[in-house]
Amino acid sequence: MDVNASQKHEFQTEVKQLLDIVINSLYTEREVFLRELISNAADALEKIRYLQITGQEIADSESALEIQIEADKDAHTLTITDTGIGMTQEELVKNLGTIAHSGSKEFIRRLTESASNDVNLIGQFGVGFYAAFMAARKVTVYTRSYRPEEESYVWESDGIGEYTIEAAPGHPRGTKIVLTLKDDAFQFGEPETITRIIKQYSSFVPYPILLNGDKVNTIQAIWTKNKNEIPDEEYTEFYKFLANAHDEPLLRMHFSADAPLAIHSLLFLPRDNFERYGFGRTEPGVNVYCKKVLIMEQAKDILPEWLRFVKGIIDSEELPLNISRETMQDSALVSKINRVVTKQLLKQLEELATDDKERYQEFWDKFSMFIKEGAASDFTHRNDLVKLLRFDSSQTAADEFVSLSDYVSRMKEEQTAIYYINGLSKESIAASPYLEAFRDQQIEVIFTHDPIDDYIFSLVGEFDGKQLLSADQTDLNLPGAPVSAEKESLSEEDLNSLIQWLKETLQEKVTEVRASARLVDSPALVLNPHSAYSMQRMMQMVNKDAPGIEAGVLEINGRHAIIQRLHALRSSDAEFAKMAAEQLLENAQIAAGLILDPRGMVHRLNAILEKALS
Ligand code: ADP
Ligand code: MG
Repeated sequence: MDVNASQKHEFQTEVKQLLDIVINSLYTEREVFLRELISNAADALEKIRYLQITGQEIADSESALEIQIEADKDAHTLTITDTGIGMTQEELVKNLGTIAHSGSKEFIRRLTESASNDVNLIGQFGVGFYAAFMAARKVTVYTRSYRPEEESYVWESDGIGEYTIEAAPGHPRGTKIVLTLKDDAFQFGEPETITRIIKQYSSFVPYPILLNGDKVNTIQAIWTKNKNEIPDEEYTEFYKFLANAHDEPLLRMHFSADAPLAIHSLLFLPRDNFERYGFGRTEPGVNVYCKKVLIMEQAKDILPEWLRFVKGIIDSEELPLNISRETMQDSALVSKINRVVTKQLLKQLEELATDDKERYQEFWDKFSMFIKEGAASDFTHRNDLVKLLRFDSSQTAADEFVSLSDYVSRMKEEQTAIYYINGLSKESIAASPYLEAFRDQQIEVIFTHDPIDDYIFSLVGEFDGKQLLSADQTDLNLPGAPVSAEKESLSEEDLNSLIQWLKETLQEKVTEVRASARLVDSPALVLNPHSAYSMQRMMQMVNKDAPGIEAGVLEINGRHAIIQRLHALRSSDAEFAKMAAEQLLENAQIAAGLILDPRGMVHRLNAILEKALS
């Protein structure tokens, strides 16, 4: 034998780390490796079928599309053979030697932390092949690409550090994976065990699976069956197969219609949102069928982009079999299906929100980012999506959330607008001067913590006929009379002269100074004449060199001791009064969250402190 023909390759670092965990730490639920290998075989068959539909030239075009499994309990081997697309030499290196996903470092970190109990992550993250090393001490892969001019190769590894590839002429199209079982994994060489595992995990694989020559699965398209005939367990199994998941879905939606479109759809919301962990963008999870024949996996345009976390299938007999990703994008039929199914899904989410608050909360905790993304970007469904949004407010308890309809239903009779304000936490907002007038009049204020919420509000402008107003806007239209006038205020004359003096003293730092009708406990606040301050804060956070604080309106509270004393101080100590005025403005800017780095004012604060102590 020609030794030089065998090429040694080193695994990518992330693969080495992953294999180290797979080999040394994962002992429970080892049997899922078989599900992963069968799922890869089914994928490879699916791709061949698609190539056939589109009329491409393929090697061994006559061979049946199926998966053959040989369990040999004497030799302690398990062999999985498919007649799928196979791999070229380059594809072997790329697919079985590296992890292509973004976020793989984060994934490995999580896997290390959760160790033994999260085998489930492996399939969901798309590194299922490596799970073979849970059961095998050596894995040998014979493969030949569907491309007629390609040769066959053999890949082999013990999972430690490196693998080899060499030419292995004479293999038919597809892939044959031989697992030489570990001493403690001999049960995977026994046909009874393998039958049980296939039945448990792979009963929905749409290709025949033969074990030692006998067929073990029956292929079924449960989405075309009647809802009443499908037990919950069957739905769950189907979801697990489809989403490569281990747990139950959070929600399922089985929907069939004849008009205006002949359509069957079976959709699931998963339990977890991997995008939340920084795993990179979730790929769309809906497969498209025509009369039970898969025509496109993970189709992009069949649902809106923001529904990419949904898993499931959509089957419509009106779809052409040979539709491509490009033609899907422009197809009027596809956008019609998209609208019909999205509407159904939104309807069901709204029902969940009213009928089962707890489960909706669970959904909201994990998937709110997608709903917000939709509300911000999808004009067609914006109004329905806005109803699904949930917020903190000045009247909610710690883990309680309010919808815009809840808010409207408990608005004060004379109240005309919905008020909101953005801030990092409930506590920091509650302490801000912007809330004083609302507290005084017992008007609820929605707290937004995410700049995208404010963006959505600015897009929709109103809800249920009520204007959406940021509480740091200049004109609030508060219904009631201004605040409790228990304390004595400066006379109008004094107040006007103080305002005039403040304008002269602060100059271009303010656009206007005026008496406030909304302050109760604070001496002053700043208001933005143009937009909500949340937008300015956002700009500052993303761009440290953004222009400094925009000059705004300074409102002062004539009932506050600081304002009254400032008025007196002007004649007794003009220099100190000027310092105090500047500090008054900056304090108001801090309260607005506009001064991210207050170190610059320490000098002045010390001077003020010195005066106060003298
Ligand atoms: P995923 O299936 O999520 O892509 P895997 O680790 O299971 O991740 O497989 C990695 C890649 O190896 C697959 O995307 C595919 O390109 C290739 N592969 C694995 N098994 C087969 C097979 N039986 N036939 C053809 N290609 C395969
Ligand atoms: Mg896989």
